[in-house]
Parts: sequence; structure tokens; C-alpha cells
Amino acid sequence: MRVVLGNTGISVNRLVFGTLPLGPLQAGLSPEEGGRLIRHALESGVNLLDTAELYGTYPHIRWALDGYAGEALIATKTHASTADQVRVHVENALRGLNRGMLDIVHMHCARIRNPLTERAEVLEELMKIRDEGKIAHIGLSSHYISAFRTTMHCPDISVIHPLINKTGMGILDGSAEEMAEAVACCSRSGKGVYAMKALAGGNLISEARESLHYVLRLPGIDAVAVGMLSLREIDANLSLFNGLVEDEMVWGELEKRRRKLKIIERFCTGCGSCVPACHSDALSLKDGKAWVDEERCILCGYCAAACPEFMIRVI
Ligand code: SF4
Ligand code: SF4
Repeated sequence: MRVVLGNTGISVNRLVFGTLPLGPLQAGLSPEEGGRLIRHALESGVNLLDTAELYGTYPHIRWALDGYAGEALIATKTHASTADQVRVHVENALRGLNRGMLDIVHMHCARIRNPLTERAEVLEELMKIRDEGKIAHIGLSSHYISAFRTTMHCPDISVIHPLINKTGMGILDGSAEEMAEAVACCSRSGKGVYAMKALAGGNLISEARESLHYVLRLPGIDAVAVGMLSLREIDANLSLFNGLVEDEMVWGELEKRRRKLKIIERFCTGCGSCVPACHSDALSLKDGKAWVDEERCILCGYCAAACPEFMIRVI
């Protein structure tokens, strides 16, 4: 099922392929293994792929697109804090994905309360790059409700990528209901909206169907990005998103899976580099080792990228 993302004119399948879990921060699939999954989703009707400079999944997407003649839109994200960094990230994406233009580039502002002021330089540079024809639309991804409350009045941000799930897990300044209200206002002001973390990074996997339906039914949510690691999972999600009969046996098995953050304590040096990388205040040092508060962890894997010893994985 296709919808138009706000006023962008871009028509997308409501199921967006979230590529984060394929890459080195999570499952660590090879470009070919991940690429085959993406290609299957594209050939089954998915047409928007969500990635980021930080995810390390450009090679997977490039593998999937090699020789693919169908439509594939790409949304990436830059965590840059300066104009120079934005340029580097956009050029990395264009080169890494072998594209002349990026469909959406989000300011990757998970933990930035007020991106329009704190990342004003980044937005200005993205606007220049858009005017040069290298970006079609500028977006904002955030875990903060306040970020979207201010963004609804910003004409240069066309797409938003909010964190929302039925428990509100991972939202940094309020409840799921408050985020839903801010998102609906953005939608009414013409922003395209595709949500993230509908399953709270895997924490709601045992209630996956109910959690996805919750987000899909919220007013103003055009589409939802879902990370998928098997052909069966892609097919099951496509059926659910298309309102088809859900295969009880397949979903029963998918909902039994468990994910968690693994810190290999024995080799953790206690350097603390992972702690500030966590957007959810879930990490701290205890007795000289990294420790995770599982109640707060949304299994995003960002801390894994910050560990110089490679001692953290989402498994
Ligand atoms: S502990 Fe790591 S995986 Fe969990 S929320 Fe923080 S950064 Fe993400
Ligand atoms: S960054 Fe790695 S080595 Fe350092 S405290 Fe965190 S888990 Fe331990």
C-alpha cells in the first residue's frame, strides 16, 4: 500500500526498510547477505530504504541496487554538527550509494532537544546542498517531542522521522501520547512522517503485531521503518502492512525472538567511551565496567560503534 509523504510528492510503501540492524552496529551481515534481504523487499514492493552515515549499511544498499531497475528511494542521516562535516557526509552517501542525488537527508538529532537552534549551521548547509541539486528533501530524526513541536513551523524540513511506540520507550521528554500529538501537528502542516522504533528496538518483539498496528493507526503517520533480518520477516511485515491475513505460525515464531545488549565484561577496559554515545541514558560504569539499564535500553546499537575494544553487540 502506497501513501504520499506529506507535501513532498514522494509516494512510498508504508513499510520502510530500516537498514540499521543489518550493519556492523547490530547483526554484522555482509553486504551480500544484507543486500539480498533489501533486494527481496524492493522486489516485493518496498521502495524507501532508511540508512545513516553512522549505520555502515551503504555497501548493503549498493549491493541490493546493483542491476535493480525498479524504484528505490533512499533516506539517509547526517549527525554532523558543522557545515564542513555535512558536506563530507553527503559526499560519502552519494559515493557510497552510487547516486547523483539523495531523496531525503535527515539531520540525525536523536538527543538534541532543539535542533533548529543547536544545528542551525547544519540546516543552512543542507539547504545549500539541496539548492545544488544533490538532495531532494531535508528531514529531521529525533527522540525529542520538543524537536518536532518547533519543526512544524520550519518550511525547509519536509519529512520527519520520530521515535514512537505504544509504551513511549526511548522518548526523551514525554509520553507516547504527547509525541503522537506533536507528530499529528507536523503532518497537518504538510510534513511527511515515517516513524522509527515501533518495536522499541526489539523490546516489544513479543507484542510485535499489536505494536506495529498501534503506530500505523496513529493520525499523521504515513509510514513506519522496520529493521528486518530474514525473508520471512519481510514477507510477514508486508502482509501486516497491507492488511492481509497474518500467518499465526510465522508471527508466533517471530514474536518469540529475544534481543539484548551484550557487553563482554571480561574484556571491557572501563574506558567509558560508550556512556556518552547512549541517547537513552542507559549506560553507566559500575565497578570499572560498562553496565546497561535494560529498562532504558532501546537496542539501537550506537554504543557499539563507540567502543574502541568492540566489546558491545546487540544480539
Ligand atoms: S545502551 Fe547502547 S543500544 Fe542501548 S539505548 Fe544506549 S546506545 Fe542504544
Ligand atoms: S567503550 Fe567498550 S571498553 Fe570502554 S567502557 Fe564501554 S564497553 Fe567497556
